[in-house]
Amino acid sequence: MRQIAVIGSGPAGYYTAEACQKQFGGDVAIDIIDRLPVPYGLIRFGVAPDHQSIKAVSRRYEAVSLSNNVRFAGNVSVGEHVSIAELKELYDAVILATGAPADRPLGIPGDDLPGVIGSAAFVGWYNGHPEFTHLDPPLDIRDVTVIGNGNVALDVGRILAKTPEEFTGSDIVKHAFDALGKSAVKRVTFVGRRGPHQIQMTPKELGELGHLTRAAPFVDPADLPPIEADAALEPGQRKSVNHLRDFAAHPRAAEVEVIFDFFAKPLRVEGDGKVERLIVERTHLTAEGNAEGTGEIYAIDCGMVVSCIGYRTPPIPDVPYDERAGRFANTDGRIADNLYCVGWARRGPTGTIGTNRPDGFMIAETIAADQPAPTPGKKGGAGLDALLGERGVDQVSFEEWQKIEAAENARARDGAPREKFVEVAEMLAARS
Ligand SMILES: Cc1cc2nc3c(=O)[nH]c(=O)nc-3n(C[C@H](O)[C@H](O)[C@H](O)COP(=O)(O)OP(=O)(O)OC[C@H]3O[C@@H](n4cnc5c(N)ncnc54)[C@H](O)[C@@H]3O)c2cc1C
Repeated sequence: MRQIAVIGSGPAGYYTAEACQKQFGGDVAIDIIDRLPVPYGLIRFGVAPDHQSIKAVSRRYEAVSLSNNVRFAGNVSVGEHVSIAELKELYDAVILATGAPADRPLGIPGDDLPGVIGSAAFVGWYNGHPEFTHLDPPLDIRDVTVIGNGNVALDVGRILAKTPEEFTGSDIVKHAFDALGKSAVKRVTFVGRRGPHQIQMTPKELGELGHLTRAAPFVDPADLPPIEADAALEPGQRKSVNHLRDFAAHPRAAEVEVIFDFFAKPLRVEGDGKVERLIVERTHLTAEGNAEGTGEIYAIDCGMVVSCIGYRTPPIPDVPYDERAGRFANTDGRIADNLYCVGWARRGPTGTIGTNRPDGFMIAETIAADQPAPTPGKKGGAGLDALLGERGVDQVSFEEWQKIEAAENARARDGAPREKFVEVAEMLAARS
């Protein structure tokens, strides 16, 4: 029997397990290992709580977990509880699907001031990631600046702008729901170095901004390129730009302003012991489409800066790492003998959930080509259990996760699908 360990239970991990099932039929046993007691990675901790239909993809992953030849081993951190060398001894193939959970540093003076928060932390806070439960972002302030022009920035801005009623049906965690309900935020400014044609916000998500109860988007018409230039855009991007044109053409008074500040490059964060303003330089686009400073400097007053500028994969001891790209060094997912990577840990933090699916199939085929037959004597999951047992690691099985899930569903507030546990200890306690 071929023994495969997939490290990480996000989309890439599950699509890979599914692909290995298809590739090797009944002749494979797959362990999906996650450092958290709960599965699904960014489906649970990244995708916005008010986008429940997207989170529904976890049902597909559940079906994979419920098949006979797949196990979930939660609460097991690779690199800490068990090493890569040990896993390679136990399994024919070890596949890293650890994602890219660390914020890319802003890298400007003042980025360490209290009130500068990375999106992994802020998103993790409102989605109940145990690492960020106690983040306590300053929401007693009027102005927030969100750096970035992608969908993560959009999620952050929308969550800050919504009324409590607009979270009906979402699974936003209680501490965030309560804090946002008392928020004094009245202006959210998106700062992007380039212009409307370069945004990476998808049309459906961008369009939502135009339909919020107490918030309205503002785009300076002067920032928009001539309308004829839109013809060169691919259709999705053109739709997004159409939304921006619509926002520019129909400004409306609102309690919360969501402002697009295009062509603005962050220079430094200033404040006396905490964030008070972001200093930016006006840019223009070069012929190659790069943002170039114009020398015009101005300040955006704000009490919090959320940087949504991308993520890095944390290194794991003994795994070759590409420092510049912030992910594992690999060629088409191959890192070393018997060691592979998929998803954001392979490609970096780009693409949608579905973009991770082909990665799984590619790696299953690569493993089949590299190792036409399994190596006899690999102990797989039995060996892992023995090792973790000796070390006193409190593994969480899929059946135990289902109990945690049932307990979260049972304690949901009215209209919400679940109330997540936000501490590891609470999750572990809910298993019995
Ligand atoms: C804020 C945000 C919102 C998003 N919204 C959408 C959306 O609406 N629609 C969409 O299509 N895409 C969305 N995406 C993108 C989507 O979430 C990613 O494409 C996808 O989750 C990447 O999958 P992954 O499996 O590579 O990583 P992840 O989902 O991050 O999974 C990695 C897993 O590895 C585990 N892990 C990490 N290190 C270790 C270790 N050392 N040992 C054991 N386990 C470990 C983690 O706990 C995690 O469970 C969003 C992304 C973000 C950041």
